[in-house]
Amino acid sequence: MIPFVNLARQHDGLRIELEAAIGRVLSSCEFVLGRHVAQFEESFAAWCGAGHGIGMNSGTSALHVALLATGVGPGDEVITSAFTFTATASAIASTGARPVLVDIDPQTLAIDPTLIERAVTARTRGIVPVHLYGHPADMDPILSIARENRLWVIEDAAQAHGAEYKGRRVGSLSDAACFSFYPTKNLGACGEAGIIVTGSAEWARNARALRDWGEAGHGTAGSNFRMAAIQAAVLDVKLRHLEEWNRKRQTLAELYSASVLGEALTAPVTQPWAHHVFHIFAVRARNREDAIAAFRERGIETRIHYPIPIHLMNRFRALGYSQGDFPEAERASREVLSIPVYPELTRSESDRVAEALRALSVATDPGFAQAAASGGS
Ligand SMILES: *Cc1c(COP(=O)(O)O)cnc(C)c1O
Repeated sequence: MIPFVNLARQHDGLRIELEAAIGRVLSSCEFVLGRHVAQFEESFAAWCGAGHGIGMNSGTSALHVALLATGVGPGDEVITSAFTFTATASAIASTGARPVLVDIDPQTLAIDPTLIERAVTARTRGIVPVHLYGHPADMDPILSIARENRLWVIEDAAQAHGAEYKGRRVGSLSDAACFSFYPTKNLGACGEAGIIVTGSAEWARNARALRDWGEAGHGTAGSNFRMAAIQAAVLDVKLRHLEEWNRKRQTLAELYSASVLGEALTAPVTQPWAHHVFHIFAVRARNREDAIAAFRERGIETRIHYPIPIHLMNRFRALGYSQGDFPEAERASREVLSIPVYPELTRSESDRVAEALRALSVATDPGFAQAAASGGS
């Protein structure tokens, strides 16, 4: 079986370095924030081309605190994508603000900039574009709408460490960006972690206070969102490998895309202005149930990111949206299928995935998909 992720391989290769880094934290007994966290904040922010990094205990906390740092709350509206991981819209809702959803561009799967303007109201405070799967959102039109309407922009970059928009790394494009270091992300901790990066000293100061009970006179705001030092030490080691890992993901994505020959599957599109880091390689399947079964028969595990768009989730029912409101998000949620794309795949494994993509993409009906599945090498 080719599992969807394989962290054991990544960690086996780094075991000596990781154990030494964790050992240094153990000896220092500086377990929360402190110098290990400060060092990682500095190196990750610099890597993104941003001035400040604020280490957090998850990507969700990073979004929550970045939003709180803007001062949004009840009565405000924040615009985001109808097709993303739950955390994006939940973080907005957890500030008391209302998430206002906008449909996606069917190619980038990120928010469609041409649909944003009509979602802006007198209550709108900001926009949270998501660089979904590792492909950046089209930031220039988003930033210009924000400027015209005096809105801030916070990037959800949880899937896009190292992705670039017109030659600039995500994290340096807007007011602030939030990253997750959940273990399976392109850069993953050995546990939970996240970070906010920003060019603004004032935002950084606010976010630093809010992650630690509002120490700097923030009154009742804030809570405990602090980063653990062991995670920072692990991430500092892994950061040195991130570019090489992203390059391997891109090489796999090229092989996979070139293997999608027929029309039963569609390969993802990379815009000419984008440097895509393929956190997820998702094809669109004409008949997804059959494709899942056929990949499974060939020993390839797949996943769906995400089967339900935000506006149709039970947790967001109170927002009052209904089926048909965001047709591209709904179509994506029916068609996308994620294929294993991690840098530790062996040559023979990625060849097997490519062979499956060749066979299944030319399948013309469900029966043929079954035949393609059993005929695999
Ligand atoms: C992973 C992820 C998050 C949340 O990060 P956690 O570290 O799991 O809290 C937020 N947004 C997106 C798009 C993600 O993929």
